[in-house]
Amino acid sequence: MMGLRSNVARKAERLFNEGRISIIEAHPKFMRTEVVGDSATYRQTHYADKTVSCTCPSHEEICSHIVASRKVVGKKYRPLNFQELNESVFGDDNIV
Ligand SMILES: [Zn+2]
Repeated sequence: MMGLRSNVARKAERLFNEGRISIIEAHPKFMRTEVVGDSATYRQTHYADKTVSCTCPSHEEICSHIVASRKVVGKKYRPLNFQELNESVFGDDNIV
């Protein structure tokens, strides 16, 4: 089915390829990104529990900004829980 979903994916790919996405905050419980869209700049929050929000007015559940920013934070950020992240970065001894 061609439709909004593929339009979202196509736009997300373009935003990504044009380098419009920045990580602006990395926090233990969430990561914030910013996407410079065609008409405005929007911010996304990717929570550790895998929920995501975006400041754009889209009524789509998953907008192109979320799809695009997931290309940046997704594979490195989302699969790890933070216990695993701490262990991989600091080792067991430094977890308090
Ligand atoms: Zn959005």
